[in-house]
Formats: sequence, C-alpha cells, structure tokens
Amino acid sequence: MTKLLEVMDLKTHFHTGSGVVPSVDGVSFDIKKGEKIAIVGESGSGKSVTSLSIMGLVGSPGRIEDGKLAFEGKDLTKLSKKEMRKLRGNEIAMIFQEPLTSLNPLFTVGNQISESIKLHQKVTSKVAKQKSIEMLEKVGIPRPDKIFSSYPHSLSGGMRQRVMIAMALSCNPKLLIADEPTTALDVTIQAQILELMKDLNEELETSILLITHDLGVVAEMVDTVMVMYAGQIVEHTDVYTLFREPKHPYTKGLMDSTPKVHMLDEELVSIEGTVPNPLSMPKGCRFHPRCQFAMDKCVSEQPELMELNDNHKVRCWLHEEKEVNLHDLVKS
Ligand code: SF4
Ligand code: MG
Repeated sequence: MTKLLEVMDLKTHFHTGSGVVPSVDGVSFDIKKGEKIAIVGESGSGKSVTSLSIMGLVGSPGRIEDGKLAFEGKDLTKLSKKEMRKLRGNEIAMIFQEPLTSLNPLFTVGNQISESIKLHQKVTSKVAKQKSIEMLEKVGIPRPDKIFSSYPHSLSGGMRQRVMIAMALSCNPKLLIADEPTTALDVTIQAQILELMKDLNEELETSILLITHDLGVVAEMVDTVMVMYAGQIVEHTDVYTLFREPKHPYTKGLMDSTPKVHMLDEELVSIEGTVPNPLSMPKGCRFHPRCQFAMDKCVSEQPELMELNDNHKVRCWLHEEKEVNLHDLVKS
C-alpha cells in the first residue's frame, strides 16, 4: 500500500497563561491508501489534537511547533489557509462526535450537503441535489428524498450522524478522520455506523483515521492501532497483536478495564491514578506514577518508542533488553 499521509515528529503545543501544554509531543506514524487506523487513549491524551493538527484546525493558543505532515507528499504545514480549506472536505474529511453542533440548524440537510458538494466540485445545483440524495441513500438513510428537505433537529442522533458521514463523503475524500464518531449513539446505531464506515472503506478505498477511547470499537473497525498517553504514542502495532499480547503496561491497563462480552463475571480493573497534569509532566516515563511495573530507571529516564520488530513499537523500558510478556510478569 502506498503512503497517503505521513506524520513526522509532530509537536502541537498550547501556550496558556499557566505555561506550555505539550498536547502532542513528537508523534510519528503514516496512513496508507485504504488503511484503517485508530488512535486510542483517555481524554487529554492528545488524540483529538493530533487529528485537528492534520486538518489544520488547531486554534490559538495552540500551534504546531514542529514536525511535518505530508499528504501525498505535500507538506500540510506549508499550505496557505485557502489551500488548506480546499483540501479539507475535498481530500480530507472529518466527522465529529456531536453531529448536532456540526450541522447548521437553520438549513435543511439537503441544502448543507449540496452546498458542500458545490463548494468542492464545479457542478450545477441540480447535479448537486442528485448527488446528495445518492449519498444519503449510500449511508443507509430510508426515504432520502424526504430527509433531503428535513432540518437537522427533526432527525434522531443516528440519522444526524449518517447525514454527517454523507456530507463528509460526498466529495469522495481520500482520508476520513472520525473523532469519537459513535460515542453519543446507542449500541445498535453505533454498530450500524461502524459497519457503514467499513463498507465505504472497502467500496471507495477511503483511508480511515479513527479517534476513540473505546477498545471495543477498535477491535471491530481497524487494521492498525496506536495507543497515546500524555501526548506521545506508547504502543503501535496491528490490531490482532495488540489484543493478543499488549506490550505497554498502559495498553494492558486499558484492556483490563474494557468489558469483554464473553467474560461477564470477570472483574474489571481500572487503571489507578489519573492522566498527568500536562503543565508538569512526570520526569522519566510519563506513565510511571500509574505503572505497576515501574523500576528505578522509569522515574529518571524517558523511554523512546522502541522497535520490537517491523510491526510493533513500544515506549517502555521493560522491553529494552528483550521482549517481555506482561501476562507472565503479572503472574510471577
Ligand atoms: Fe512502566 Fe517503566 Fe514501562 Fe513506563 S517504562 S510503562 S514506568 S515499566
Ligand atoms: Mg477528544
């Protein structure tokens, strides 16, 4: 697969009255054409800021301090506001958690989708309307001609989210960034929306960057996973490897605190402590105050993201000399 997006050592910091918040602190990864990849982490881990940085939507007091964002070889950080606006929607589209706040209540659904189509493609209103109805149909909306003339508030949450996806995909983007796209929806609708995104990925080869705190959604959806903690990637591998044998204690903690359908009576263990105050990040490994495996070295030296093999990276001293199985460590 060819690389669509390359993120290289991205640093996005917020300059607040109390100091500098390193929300994204040296993040690197790439997304290939047609790939589905997820960033997982608790709130405040930097996952949303990573996606906003790619979209060129980081607002003051935040700014990209350093790093490169190459989309099909073009450096996004070097584009003008106008060039970036053109790219957004056309080549990269984004859907958010709250469809009601992202849709304009004053205009009909159809009006908003066709405006977005007209903005990015040079087509007549008639063609734009036709395309909009096709798109609504594609995202599984019944009676799309009727929904076309409806206002957002008259639709259910699931319908609005479908409308958002239709709008995001109406310009056939190469990359779809979905930030907690199903968090506000009930489980059935959530499953439908995820299924829909998977279909579109297969049919149109749209690459997907999914931002979520939910490992269940990750297991359903993606090929590759990055786990973020305190502004950094702490683990990066394919979804099967991650679930079979997580190498970072934080990843393992996330898994132990995620309910599994087939283990209903097993006790869920939550990760002790809270995410660190970003204004005073812990020295050494940023996870050490919460880590059950922490050693002396962890308190003083910050681990790099180490390559265990071609397909698995982890930021943890435990694996410095040789790969360790965390399940065995817990038992012993
Ligand atoms: Fe835990 Fe140390 Fe690994 Fe950090 S480096 S996750 S503190 S064992
Ligand atoms: Mg978020």
